[in-house]
Amino acid sequence: METLSGISVKIDLHTHTTFSDGALRTRELLLKAKGCGITTISITDHDTISALEDAKEFSKEIGMNLVPGIEITSRLKHSQLHFLGYFFDYTNKKFLSRLQELQDARILRAKKIIAKLNRIKIPLKLESVLEKAGVKNSIGRPHIANMMVEEGYAETYEEVFHKYIGIGKPAYEANHPFPPEEAIRMVAEAGGLSFLAHPSHYVSEGLLRELLKYGLDGIEVIHPSHSADGTEFYDKFADDNSILKCGGSDFHGGLKNDDVNMGKYVVDRSWVDRIEEKLINRKVLEYRPQACSPGASVSGGDELKLKGEFIGKS
Ligand SMILES: [Zn+2]
Ligand SMILES: [Zn+2]
Repeated sequence: METLSGISVKIDLHTHTTFSDGALRTRELLLKAKGCGITTISITDHDTISALEDAKEFSKEIGMNLVPGIEITSRLKHSQLHFLGYFFDYTNKKFLSRLQELQDARILRAKKIIAKLNRIKIPLKLESVLEKAGVKNSIGRPHIANMMVEEGYAETYEEVFHKYIGIGKPAYEANHPFPPEEAIRMVAEAGGLSFLAHPSHYVSEGLLRELLKYGLDGIEVIHPSHSADGTEFYDKFADDNSILKCGGSDFHGGLKNDDVNMGKYVVDRSWVDRIEEKLINRKVLEYRPQACSPGASVSGGDELKLKGEFIGKS
């Protein structure tokens, strides 16, 4: 564990709650993280910020630092890409309306998957999936898979994907075509920074370079799915291209069997310092009169101070 002036620092910038496909509620997740020695956490639910208000309050109560986060689903051709966004203003109207579009698209996709399942004589109902999931705005295939196992249509979660809802299977439905540049722009316009999540899942070096042209701020270097070589490659790629690095456990809990990951996949404090530096530099540039574009959404007041929710800055 890294220490800073004798204080232990453990930073996990990628976790999920029941607001998306995690198994723990916001406060349960924060308590678990605290128990694992995490001092700074980001909750990065899929296409939703529903956990953030309560997390902000409760993290203060238990003495943890919270980085406002999200994991945005994007699609490039047939590949699904995930972008982690940090430090955006989650009250920004434009950001919220884009988020609403993504959430509406999730519901529509779930409806289509369920219609296809119904056609192959699996009488699943959207209402019961939504009720069981307990989420209204970040419904996804994991919720459908869990319900199918519970209702006895498959033995395991994996089987549901392999037989029914995975790519090329009879009830597969592609997700909303939200291009990467839109995801990156959406976070940037709300004052945040975007990172490509777990690049080893899907990304060639060529595509990574392409994403940099859209203004991607960094990549996730530390992730449970990365091999030692992969981690080394992404670490070097980030340094060589002068972009930021992030990482974390991608903790979901429950069926994902990732209990041991919490506390194990943490990032270096210096990476977070770089993130803060970039945010501060951007604010400085925004406040130079010649750099201000009409209608730029810059909130007044504490311009050079970050939101006071981060390491040692509050
Ligand atoms: Zn992801
Ligand atoms: Zn994730």
